[in-house]
Amino acid sequence: MPKRVVILGAGYAGLVTALELRKNATPEDTEVILVNKHNYHQLVTQLHELGAGAKSDTSARIMIEPVIRNKYITLIKDHVESIDPKEKRVRLSQQELSYDYLVVALGSETEYFGIPGLKEHSFILKSINQARLLRTHIERCFAEYHYTRDESLLTFVVGGAGFSGIELVGEFADRMPVLCEENNIPLDKVKLFNVEAAPSILPGFDKELVERAEKSLTERGVKFLVGVPIVQVEPGKVHLKNGDVIATQTLVWTGGVRGNQIVIDAGFETEPRGRAKVNEYLQALGYEDVYIIGDSCFIINEETGRPYPPTAQIAGQMGTAVGKYLFADLRGGTKEPFKPQIMGSIASLGRKDAIAKIGKNYQATGRFAYIVKDMSKLRYLAKIGAVIKKA
Ligand SMILES: Cc1cc2nc3c(=O)[nH]c(=O)nc-3n(C[C@H](O)[C@H](O)[C@H](O)COP(=O)(O)OP(=O)(O)OC[C@H]3O[C@@H](n4cnc5c(N)ncnc54)[C@H](O)[C@@H]3O)c2cc1C
Repeated sequence: MPKRVVILGAGYAGLVTALELRKNATPEDTEVILVNKHNYHQLVTQLHELGAGAKSDTSARIMIEPVIRNKYITLIKDHVESIDPKEKRVRLSQQELSYDYLVVALGSETEYFGIPGLKEHSFILKSINQARLLRTHIERCFAEYHYTRDESLLTFVVGGAGFSGIELVGEFADRMPVLCEENNIPLDKVKLFNVEAAPSILPGFDKELVERAEKSLTERGVKFLVGVPIVQVEPGKVHLKNGDVIATQTLVWTGGVRGNQIVIDAGFETEPRGRAKVNEYLQALGYEDVYIIGDSCFIINEETGRPYPPTAQIAGQMGTAVGKYLFADLRGGTKEPFKPQIMGSIASLGRKDAIAKIGKNYQATGRFAYIVKDMSKLRYLAKIGAVIKKA
C-alpha cells in the first residue's frame, strides 16, 4: 500500500516539494496529493508589477496541471479549512483527507499590528486577485479625477518599506507618468508616499544600496516618510504618529506578515507572530510526520541570531529539502539539517532599475541588477518546468 503524502499549498514551497519528491518516489511507494485553492501557481514575487498595472496577470499565473502532468501528482483544487495533526486528517471545504505525511506550505497572512482601520481601508498584495483589484482601483482613480478634481484620488501611499513595499513603489513611480499621459493629467498632480515606521528602508540591504534605492526613487517622485508609524486609517485618510494626515483613496499595506491562522488553530507551536517553530529538518515540534515550510514557518539565522526573512528563495530551498527528507522517511536514509543558501537579494526599483547583493560581497545596481533579477525568475521557471506567456 503506498504511503500518502499530502502537501497543502502549491506556492514556491509546496510545488517544489511535490516535484522534488516525485524525482525519486515511485507511484508504488507514494501517493502525492497537492491541495491548492487555485488551479494555478502564483509568482508572488512579481505581484508588484501586476498591482501597478505594468504587466498582465498571465505574467504571474502558472497553470499547475501542465507542470505536474505525467508526474503522478494529484491536484485537488480546494480550500484547506483545518488540520488535525493528532488524527492525521485535513479538512478541506469539500472533503476530508487522511495522510501518512503532511507538508504545510500555506504561506503567510498580513499583519496589521492592531492599527485601527488599517485592515478595512487598505489594499494588500499577496495574490493575483488582490493585485487586479489594486490595478483596477488605480485606473479608476485617474479616470475619476477628471470629473472631481479631488486630489486624494491622485495621492498614493505605500505602507511599509521592506522588499515588497519598495518594489511596489518603484513600479508606481514608473507607471504614474504613463497613466498621466493616458489621462491627460500633469504628472505634478500625482503624490506618491512610502511610509515606514522603522528608522530606515529595506532592512537587510547594505547602507550604500539603501541610499542608492532612496536616490533612484526620490528622483522619480517618491516621498519617503521614514520612522513615521501609521496610527489610524479611515476612509480617505491616513493618520501618522507625527500628527500629519494624508488625504488619499489608496493605501497599500505591505508592512507586515504573520503566520497562517490554520497552522495556529491546528495547535502547532508558533512564535508570537504565528509562524510555526520547526526543528532542523523543518518538522513541526512534536510531529515527525508534519513538515511546515515556506512563509508558514520560522527559522533562525545562526550567524545573526535573527530570523531569516520570509522569501521565495528560502521557501523553494525548503521545498527541495523536504522533497528529499520525505523520500528518506519513506525509503530510509539519512537527512542533512536544513541550512538556506542565500544566493543574494535583489529588489527591483521599477522597470529598469534594481539593487542587488549577490553572494556575500558583490553588489550591483541599475539595469544589470534588474536583468539578474529577471534571470533568477527564469531559472526558477526552468526548475519547475513551467512556461509563461509573454505579457
Ligand atoms: C510583492 C512581493 C514581492 C516579493 N519579492 C520577492 C523577491 O523578489 N524575492 C524573494 O525571495 N521573495 C519575495 N517575496 C516574498 C515571497 O513571495 C514569499 O516569501 C513566498 O511567496 C513564500 O512562498 P510560500 O510557498 O511559503 O507561500 P506562497 O507563495 O504564498 O504560497 C502559498 C500557497 O498556498 C495557497 N493557499 C493559502 N491558503 C490556502 C488555503 N486555505 N487553502 C488552499 N490553498 C491555500 C496559496 O494560494 C498559495 O498557492 C515577495 C513578496 C511580495 C508580496
